[in-house]
Amino acid sequence: PLSGKTAVITGSNSGIGLGIAQELAKAGAQVVLNSYTDRKEDHALAEEITNVTGNEARYIKADLSKGDDARRLIEEAGDVDILINNAGIQHVAPIQDFPTEKWDAIIAIMLSSVFHTTAAAIPMMKKSGWGRVINISSAHGLTASPYKSAYVSAKHGVVGMTKVVALETAQEPITVNAICPGYVLTPLVEAQIPETMKEYDMDRETVIKEVMLERQPSKEFATTEQLGGVATFLCSDAAAQITGTTISVDGGWTAL
Ligand code: NAD
Repeated sequence: PLSGKTAVITGSNSGIGLGIAQELAKAGAQVVLNSYTDRKEDHALAEEITNVTGNEARYIKADLSKGDDARRLIEEAGDVDILINNAGIQHVAPIQDFPTEKWDAIIAIMLSSVFHTTAAAIPMMKKSGWGRVINISSAHGLTASPYKSAYVSAKHGVVGMTKVVALETAQEPITVNAICPGYVLTPLVEAQIPETMKEYDMDRETVIKEVMLERQPSKEFATTEQLGGVATFLCSDAAAQITGTTISVDGGWTAL
């Protein structure tokens, strides 16, 4: 269904971004992977997607902490039909100890980059007469936790920008939405399980259910494949009237 469409997924050499890229490629899209590195492994990820799906995949290096680089990514990708704003980092500290450079980096990578890529991509979507912008926010785009001032601010900001751009494109065949995941089982999260088991002296299942998924009522992680599936749905005709909203994939977190 997505054949002939070009999809740019920011921050997609691992985790959720890579999972979404793989699912969109399976659905027929030509995907553009991105991160701030330019290693052989990064390009190999794109080659593997091409080999598995038969749809051309590319990798473009761009450092999304820089507005010019974010805009260049979109220009280099070409006629962008689908934009997935996913790149992200985290830093945890009480506000009085929160390093200014971490605040600046989180706001730049997770909020300002969404402004730049979206501003560059919307004219392309208007020209081609079809477009999808999907912002990967978080349960922390709708609720808060202590010590995450920059992350929670950026993720709430992304939800706000989603609504604004949806209104600005409401009469075009373009939709703009945010996906708000709870805890997702990415390689990064998987890697934390053994240390946490040691730290709490608990078995794997107890660590997952009682420590990591304390706020996720389902007591199950969401998967990157599921997020890819939700993104693919938002790109479908069935979702053409879904715009300016959030879809939570959080096992009930925000229902609490
Ligand atoms: P991850 O660390 O695997 O992925 C983050 C991606 O962003 C990587 O590809 C990284 O290279 C890229 N990135 C970081 N800084 C960048 C920069 N300056 N320029 C370009 N790319 C950059 O983590 P993930 O869990 O897959 O997270 C992806 C997104 O999902 C993030 O926005 C995160 O906040 C959000 N999210 C994750 C979870 C979760 O439980 N894993 C939950 C809710 C939301």
